[in-house]
Amino acid sequence: PFKRIDGKRASARVLSEVAEQVKQLQQQGAQPGLAVVLIGEDPASQVYVRNKVLRAAEVGIYSLEHKLAADTTQADLLALIDSLNNDPQIHGILVQLPLPEGMDETRVLESINPLKDVDGFHSSNVGGLSQGRKVLTPCTPAGCMRLLHDTCGDLSGLHAVVVGRSNIVGKPMAALLLQANCSVTLVHSRSRDIERLCRDADILVAAVGRPKMIKRDWLKSGAVVIDVGINRIASDSGTRLVGDVDYEDVYDQVAAITPVPGGVGPMTIAMLMQNTLDAARMQLSKGE
Ligand code: NAD
Repeated sequence: PFKRIDGKRASARVLSEVAEQVKQLQQQGAQPGLAVVLIGEDPASQVYVRNKVLRAAEVGIYSLEHKLAADTTQADLLALIDSLNNDPQIHGILVQLPLPEGMDETRVLESINPLKDVDGFHSSNVGGLSQGRKVLTPCTPAGCMRLLHDTCGDLSGLHAVVVGRSNIVGKPMAALLLQANCSVTLVHSRSRDIERLCRDADILVAAVGRPKMIKRDWLKSGAVVIDVGINRIASDSGTRLVGDVDYEDVYDQVAAITPVPGGVGPMTIAMLMQNTLDAARMQLSKGE
């Protein structure tokens, strides 16, 4: 494998596998469907939603974008989710976060049918992941696992250190690594001696949101690094994106590393398509 882990290539592979399997479902008369719900006008969220809908079309997944005004009430949002839960053409429901001020995120996410929860944020799926059941799993950590398996093969017995403990990335990442038989250390903003803990990592996953925080002397020689961070910093020509790991600084120290951009980012959306396909399969096999 190459030292620079190519997320674009890996995601293209996932997408073409998904497209192939969607085609097979279509030949049996079934069509996976994804509903993406966006509330308000946050520009970044608009871009994410547009990309998700475009990617769905590319792999043959039917998709519907529901755009709601910023002043939509929570009751109206819950009513929409309820109708999508009961819509047999829709197998995946994604509510783009963050929600507008004043909405109860937990309440909204818990209202999604867990079988259609393609973001994997419903407590039933979170619990299932922690029990090692086969459930819909958050897309970013699932994408990181795919890159790690491509790079390292079997992960059994390796020491993985995850930096960051968010519900979206850090915690599910730790659960997936444990499931893959790693020894897992989860460190965060209150951890003591974080550099020493990181230096013991065979695999380091950074999901912090601090530009270039992780330097060469945080890593043991030959570590494999997955950089989830996406940070916009000032540059000569305006702004540019960098990860949580100082890529240039650590490059000679590591066995393999994901770049930012072009690493984890493209995998996230590919795994969303995979989840939608998996959700459709689960629902179709239950006769729903
Ligand atoms: P978050 O803000 O919810 O969580 C950050 C975590 O980092 C927290 O658990 C906190 O304890 C920890 N942290 C903060 N400062 C720290 C420090 N100095 N030392 C150690 N730990 C520290 O963020 P998130 O949603 O998990 O996202 C993390 C990063 O990943 C962000 O840059 C985000 O943009 C990016 N992200 C990328 C993708 C993708 O598709 N590539 C998806 C989600 C998030």
